[in-house]
Amino acid sequence: MNGLLLKEARRLLLVVAVGGLLSWWQQGLWPLVVLLTGCLGFYLWQLARLLRWLQRYPDDWEPPESSGAWGELFNGLYRLLRRENLARDDLSQLIRRTESSMSAMRDGVVLLDRRQQLETWNQAAAHALGLRMSTDRRQAFTNFVRHPQMIAYLEKADFQQPLTLPAPVNPARMLEYSVTRYGAGEYLLLVRDVTRLHRLEQMRKDFVANVSHELKTPLTVFKGYVETLLDSTGAEQTALCRALNQMSVQSSRMERLINDLLWLARLEGTAAEQPHSQVRLDLLCVSLREEATALADERQQQIELAVPLGLTVLGDVDELRSAIGNLLTNAINYTGDSGKISLVWRASEDGGGLLEVCDNGPGIEHHHLPRLTERFYRPDASRVTATGGTGLGLAIVKHILLRHDSRLDISSRLGQGSCFACCFPAHRVLGLEPVI
Ligand code: ADP
Repeated sequence: MNGLLLKEARRLLLVVAVGGLLSWWQQGLWPLVVLLTGCLGFYLWQLARLLRWLQRYPDDWEPPESSGAWGELFNGLYRLLRRENLARDDLSQLIRRTESSMSAMRDGVVLLDRRQQLETWNQAAAHALGLRMSTDRRQAFTNFVRHPQMIAYLEKADFQQPLTLPAPVNPARMLEYSVTRYGAGEYLLLVRDVTRLHRLEQMRKDFVANVSHELKTPLTVFKGYVETLLDSTGAEQTALCRALNQMSVQSSRMERLINDLLWLARLEGTAAEQPHSQVRLDLLCVSLREEATALADERQQQIELAVPLGLTVLGDVDELRSAIGNLLTNAINYTGDSGKISLVWRASEDGGGLLEVCDNGPGIEHHHLPRLTERFYRPDASRVTATGGTGLGLAIVKHILLRHDSRLDISSRLGQGSCFACCFPAHRVLGLEPVI
């Protein structure tokens, strides 16, 4: 390239030299002016050819014929444009392939930009959400899925768990939205129709609730008869007494199980009541500790209480009593004799806080912790027989806390003890109400 430029510069110098010689010979400048004007004319002509070709490209894809630097310029431009064209073809093919694979997907795919506006989507998403390419591009996604839970979900930007909501075009269908952030903050939304799964889940819940309800009456009758028989059986009939005692213990356990199942079904099946009332957490903890003292005293256990006076949260008093009571009962049941249990409030910096129920009991192996709130999940079956637990306690606690926009954090060390923390967000904690 540099060589060509040198050649062009030399050619120009030659013209100037010849022009200069002729001007000296003719004793006037006009030969030089004529030659330079010719040169300029030549350059302008080549420039005009170049512009004309660029305007007609790509219909007329062949560059103008020329030699020297101009020829090289035309060919270089031609090569550049061709390379760009090929890259563009490849890119549009890739986009076409991506679009066709997206539309072949049975699940809906929606791409949102950083401002959560619709960018593109596939056929399944259009069908599920009622989107139209001609009118709905660049519209806010929440204009189509107006559910307050979706607005809160996107605002919170915690996409670890998918969100299940009724479909905007047909509320009888249930859609599950899984969101992933990618690129420079854009959103990739997968929309899955989970109506069948949801129905099955609903059937399971109804079945459990109905069976538990139906079992309640015969069990009450059975328990009543066992107690009557126990009262009327003399102590000398040892074998019968033992059998009746066992029947009484087991029927009480079954009653607790049924009550827990019904309670869990209620928690799962009904929406949390809004607005919640103000609950004095300090008074609740004092009363729960008093109730638990009898059981703890039997085992020489100490319950330490450190909840600030006047601490108030927004919630349902019965539900909170059940959750904290369950944690306290577990701590007493699973901590050995002379164990130490504490009920402590810790305020967090964001205005929320945690109510921790800790013990210095046997602890739980780390790999059990994530599954501990599943129904009937027991790390150690032998402990259960001893405590007579139902296996539903922590599932109930988790559900109650979810209904309070809160969560249960569990930490434990084998041989050292466990801590179950009810973490309340700032908008649930009213702080310390003045105590009269
Ligand atoms: P359960 O009725 O069996 O107590 P939960 O759901 O309340 O059911 O607890 C599930 C399991 O978690 C228990 O079986 C027990 O193994 C373990 N667990 C719960 N609380 C504690 C605790 N404070 N210390 C040790 N293990 C515990």
